[in-house]
Amino acid sequence: MDSKMIKTRFAPSPTGFLHVGGARTALFNWLFARKHGGQFVLRIEDTDQVRSTAESAAGILSDLQWLGLNWDCGPKPGAEKNEYFQSMRLALYNAHLEQLVKDGRAYEAYETPQQLAAMRMVAEKMKRPFRYRRNMPGRAERGSGPTVLRFEMPFETITFHDLILGDISVAGEEHDDIIIRKSDGFPTYHFAVVVDDHDMGITHVLRAQEHLMNTPKHLGLYKALGWQPPAHAHMPLVFNMDNTKMSKRDKTKAARAAAAAWIKQGNTFEMLVEKSGIPADQLKEFLDKKTDDSRLAAAVGAALSVPLPEIDVQDFRRSGYLPDALLNFIALIGWSPGENREILTRDEMLQLFSLETIGKTSGRFDRKKLLWMNGEYIRNHTVDDLQPALAAFNAVTSYPIKKASESQQRQLLAMYQERTGTLAEMAENGRFFFEEPTLDQAAFKKHVESGNGRIVLQQIRDMLSPVTDWSKEQLAPLIEKIIELGEKRGSAPQTLRVAICGGSVSPPLLETLCLLGRDTTLARIDKILQKIG
Ligand code: GLU
Repeated sequence: MDSKMIKTRFAPSPTGFLHVGGARTALFNWLFARKHGGQFVLRIEDTDQVRSTAESAAGILSDLQWLGLNWDCGPKPGAEKNEYFQSMRLALYNAHLEQLVKDGRAYEAYETPQQLAAMRMVAEKMKRPFRYRRNMPGRAERGSGPTVLRFEMPFETITFHDLILGDISVAGEEHDDIIIRKSDGFPTYHFAVVVDDHDMGITHVLRAQEHLMNTPKHLGLYKALGWQPPAHAHMPLVFNMDNTKMSKRDKTKAARAAAAAWIKQGNTFEMLVEKSGIPADQLKEFLDKKTDDSRLAAAVGAALSVPLPEIDVQDFRRSGYLPDALLNFIALIGWSPGENREILTRDEMLQLFSLETIGKTSGRFDRKKLLWMNGEYIRNHTVDDLQPALAAFNAVTSYPIKKASESQQRQLLAMYQERTGTLAEMAENGRFFFEEPTLDQAAFKKHVESGNGRIVLQQIRDMLSPVTDWSKEQLAPLIEKIIELGEKRGSAPQTLRVAICGGSVSPPLLETLCLLGRDTTLARIDKILQKIG
């Protein structure tokens, strides 16, 4: 294989967020191109004028950048649409469409959606699949409905060698004359993808298995246009642990279930409108399953404080997964680098990656394993390495740590890296450093209110208040003394902990005191002393 020639592409449709399945497709294309010293192209397939949005395209670029999957040719983040957006390439598609019409390979068709549905029903009644063909009886007359262009597929068997799945054949009678130009004048996905892969010199099309049966259609087009097709490889799908396909609907399903449960508890639809801020008509559509808009799902989840399953890359980003950990994890869905290897750097992935080692059957998305892996990444990186990941996390979340100084953030990372699975868990558990803690009543009763908790807390205050140089060196011997205080050894530290952290769990006291600072520590102790009077 001439390695200089390799060119892959990732071609998302900008109709929503980048989900993990898409990220894996992007990663494998990236790995394959980089491994062979080739080029990786990013192309935005926005031919669906109704569903495509600029916001979605921008989100996809941002998620790919966060994952570190850089592209050689493609859109420029933050800039105007360029020629890597299909909507900017209509002239090219039209030229080739005209050619097909001239060659007699494309023809106009005029059925309305209702007519097509009726034709489909007739076929179903006769227990055969519906195939639209140029020579079929009962085709609609010119002018009777919207005009589309269809491609006349040859009646011959189409066979191709899939680099993962092996030989795939589709017999002539299975083909269907697909629409290649819609009535709005835009090409369909099938047509644009063929023209672009050819025009951009793509050598390898690596995409998910859900596109497998599109490939024979595309090969029919390549042949009619007189072009050499690229090689194809279809990758296994991503499944949940319960064997359902992982899809953005998992999120909407969870949000609807949460809403139903909440309403069952005696709340009303109107209350949910109020709580979520979603206009009533939109909320009704969402609950009636008329839309799967993940933004509505997120708003319902947030209003009811119900976490939704992470599906999109940005969900994982907000949950505090590190890009390298997420990338490492998704690489292993359907790909096995051998020797039970699990933690892999990008360089190791590049070394070990090959299409031969990609599986044929669907891969599982094991959330527990991802959480473990993320924890491993957090533990095994230096604070210097983690700092940019925390900055990227803060950019899309609003935990109080966002407003902390860089030095405070570094201290927090050092303190939590051994004891957190995600950055969000750290940010949540570390809230008390930056805002008044909510008091855990049970812990307060047990460690502060009962026994001689009050006296002990006063003693601790008296020990701490003279310290002016609030440093580890000065505080360490005092912590030793605090351990000796109280009814039994070690109970006084818990009294102090509840007073300053709000609960009985926190990182080691010494580090906690240092980060909280003298003023906050003493103020919190005073507040508790006042409370018990
Ligand atoms: N725009 C298509 C999608 O997002 C691309 C499929 C392909 O890679 O050909 O599914």
